[in-house]
Amino acid sequence: MKILHFGLVAISLAVVQAASCLAAEHPNIVVILADDIGYGDLSCYGATKVKTPNLDKLAAQGMRFTDAHCAAPVCTPSRYALLTGQYPWRHEPARRILSGIAPLAIPLDRLTVPKLVKQAGYTTGVVGKWHLGLGETEPDFNTELKPGPKEVGFDYSFIIPATGDRTPCVYVENGRVVNYDPKDPIQVSYGPKIGMEPTGKENPELLFNQKPSHGHDATIVNGISRIGFMSGGKAARWKDEDMADEITQRAVRFVASHKAKPFFLYFATHGIHVPRFPHPRFRGKSEHGLRGDAIVELDWCVGEIMATLEEQDLHRNTLIIFTSDNGGVMDDGYVDGTQEDGSGHLCNGKLRGFKGSPYEGGTRVPLIACWPGRIPAGKVSAEMVSSVDLLATVAAITGQALPNAAGPDSFDILPALLAEKPELPCRETLTMQANPIAVRRGNWKLIPSVRQANGQARPAELYNLADDLAEKKNLATEHPEKVRELATLLEEMRKSGRSQPGNK
Ligand code: CA
Repeated sequence: MKILHFGLVAISLAVVQAASCLAAEHPNIVVILADDIGYGDLSCYGATKVKTPNLDKLAAQGMRFTDAHCAAPVCTPSRYALLTGQYPWRHEPARRILSGIAPLAIPLDRLTVPKLVKQAGYTTGVVGKWHLGLGETEPDFNTELKPGPKEVGFDYSFIIPATGDRTPCVYVENGRVVNYDPKDPIQVSYGPKIGMEPTGKENPELLFNQKPSHGHDATIVNGISRIGFMSGGKAARWKDEDMADEITQRAVRFVASHKAKPFFLYFATHGIHVPRFPHPRFRGKSEHGLRGDAIVELDWCVGEIMATLEEQDLHRNTLIIFTSDNGGVMDDGYVDGTQEDGSGHLCNGKLRGFKGSPYEGGTRVPLIACWPGRIPAGKVSAEMVSSVDLLATVAAITGQALPNAAGPDSFDILPALLAEKPELPCRETLTMQANPIAVRRGNWKLIPSVRQANGQARPAELYNLADDLAEKKNLATEHPEKVRELATLLEEMRKSGRSQPGNK
């Protein structure tokens, strides 16, 4: 019996050791998703009025992409695609920007990046901006908020429920409002006003810093009026100037406390979304006003993560991916000096359009990937990639096959990351969901005809990005066959429910 028992223990130990060896081969994965950082906002992408030394270092140690995209030019749909590998226009609740009281937009039966890596033994965490909804119906911030990040696959969560410019202005950690006081219950409304608190519309004299330029005139929190009303939760309310410190501290703590086995951290910074309200120590640190200072603060956040990985001796086995959820924008609802900024800084470089636009300025964003010893250092890649590719790429990295229904628009871009030279590019087609949905095959891009708010149709636009990255020359009349080809491609993608061939 004893021999058998020891034998079993030995076998069990061997299995455990094999499993931990296997796990040790898997890299930690840190995805840093910046908010509203445009193609021209980082010095490694050509900015001169703002310096981003940490991101420049990351690019020097890794690979920088020049044709990387988000799946949509605004927060919610872009984030949905990143976590699920599905174009957001396929799933109605994720198509548009959610309010602060929207239910969870990710179906619980959809495979997500955190669920996928958990199958490979990872510990998972999300820190920062969520903006994917909470709860089954309208969430009650006085109770446990579920389903939410945990049900989507995150073991740990410390989140801003929607965005900094929206109520409720509180952090939620593992489903509970941080510093919640039951004697001061929280109410949130995106309809009629609730509570007696001053609003930006009624009491503009109480706005101590930024006045709204459009919208953003409901409840005043921390001297800034927001989209949506809230009452209560006084002890739980954030201070905008401390937000970068608060979330970076949690992200650093997550990294430092999960050394024993591989981890996946989704660090969704609030920088540099409005209200742009960097900590005083970053003010005046750029030549691009508050928006530039917020970029400097964001770069500091990235540097803290990089430094922690080095201190913990984890950096050699960690893949860091930095990208943005959509392109840059100047006036996004507050008068903060950005619109009047005369520095000459071009947030999207020479690209046309801004956040929200179907043009390249809406969705072509910085993407830097660093994985020492695997991704060649200092490389620049012109390969077309999208953040919707994260799911399939992480599946490849962790040696897992995706079920057929998972990640229908996610392509494995690991060969591009490793600078391998396969015969075909990782992805040949791409959609970018604005109004309308733009579609690409190679360098040809179609922005289909769309009916505008005034009832008139805007004609189709066709661009060849190979020699017209700024989308100045509409070739739709010259190349009607290309317009038809790309319109047919988009229709096929709609009908088939996928753009990635899957396991047939
Ligand atoms: Ca955004």
